[in-house]
Amino acid sequence: MEQDIIIIGAGPAGLSFARDIASTGMNITILEKQPEKVLENPPYDGREIALTHLSRRIMSNLGMWDLIPNSNISMIKTAKILNGKSPYALCFDHDEAGEDTLGYMISNQQIRKAAYRSLKDFNNIRIMDKTEVTNLSTDNKEGWVKLSDGKDLKAPLIIAADSRFSATRRMMGISTSMLDFGRTCVVCTMSVQLPHNDTAYECFHFGRTLAVLPMNNNQVSIVITLKSEESHDLLSMSNGDFAMDIERRIESKFGKMELTSKLYPYPLVATFAKTFNKNRFAMIGDAAVGMHPVTAHGFNLGLRGAHILAKEIKTAMTCGIDYASHTILDNYSRKHRHICAPLYHGTNALVTLYTRETTTAKFARRALLRLGNHIGPARRLIINQLTESKVA
Ligand SMILES: Cc1cc2nc3c(=O)[nH]c(=O)nc-3n(C[C@H](O)[C@H](O)[C@H](O)COP(=O)(O)OP(=O)(O)OC[C@H]3O[C@@H](n4cnc5c(N)ncnc54)[C@H](O)[C@@H]3O)c2cc1C
Repeated sequence: MEQDIIIIGAGPAGLSFARDIASTGMNITILEKQPEKVLENPPYDGREIALTHLSRRIMSNLGMWDLIPNSNISMIKTAKILNGKSPYALCFDHDEAGEDTLGYMISNQQIRKAAYRSLKDFNNIRIMDKTEVTNLSTDNKEGWVKLSDGKDLKAPLIIAADSRFSATRRMMGISTSMLDFGRTCVVCTMSVQLPHNDTAYECFHFGRTLAVLPMNNNQVSIVITLKSEESHDLLSMSNGDFAMDIERRIESKFGKMELTSKLYPYPLVATFAKTFNKNRFAMIGDAAVGMHPVTAHGFNLGLRGAHILAKEIKTAMTCGIDYASHTILDNYSRKHRHICAPLYHGTNALVTLYTRETTTAKFARRALLRLGNHIGPARRLIINQLTESKVA
């Protein structure tokens, strides 16, 4: 089969992009190193993804949202940000946003499953599983990929969606700024004895952060970030000791808590590619921007970027223009960078501020919380970022 687009990586970004572009009838080949049965039934990986209203709209239009059972979609109605041991909190509520919820929580497993299922009925989409891209190059007319089985494939456009450590980005000689926080994020789920009232807590304790995010059935998602050298001790705690530690850190807000999943560690490295496109090549998802998870933008941005690129390609096709031309890919890159850059740098600055122990940093943290609570435009900005409900 001659392909019009090759997508490298069948993660949530690659699959969402494929689904978005599927209706054009173009022949799409997705290359993925994992077996297809894993894409069909991905294992639980501890990640509970906070999604904005914009992401919900895009996923609904792509037919992905309806494939996720309602019981697997939780709501965040209120968000509270706490600093150290201070009882003072920066609070946001769904009423103020004019929505029935600030955002949604869905496991990465469910998102991946829905994304895969949403494109199963398209005959123009082919997934080549257990296939790794080992080399790649492009010129002004087309791109070639070399596969792990020695075969070559070519197409007028190659899309990389192969994670924040994208090997194909490197093969294309695109440099990337990387920020290794020297920290690890540990995630898990726990049951709670007292109601969480659909409230998300982000606690910036000194030295580590703890997020407690509401889920259905009296469950919460726990996200801890701590120095990597301390993560080993945390990961080797008994279930009972771990639960007691979390109860203490959250000051017994939820009564008795129990672990309901394994602990999943993720090293924290943020990445931002110097450009999102080159000759007949574009990057989406974490391959373009790999965010620190604390502000929960990663997949929301991935989905938005994939949608922007799909829209540019569809417009080009309607106008009879080459859909992989510099102009089209530059348009995507410019628009998406404009959205991502402030969020990327803002998140990294926030992380640095909230993990520093200096007196100035502590003072700035307190001031920021108060500013967020009392300055109208600042509040609106944060609420708009949290919900993305006003984004067209
Ligand atoms: C702890 C944690 C919490 C998070 N919370 C949130 C949140 O609340 N909200 C939010 O929006 N985001 C969140 N994120 C971010 C979100 O999980 C990611 O942005 C998203 O999963 C990235 O998807 P992707 O498709 O770009 O990449 P990936 O999921 O990394 O997929 C890449 C795919 O490419 C394949 N691949 C790689 N190399 C090759 C190759 N050479 N050849 C073929 N295939 C290849 C891989 O097998 C994989 O299937 C969180 C992340 C973490 C770690």
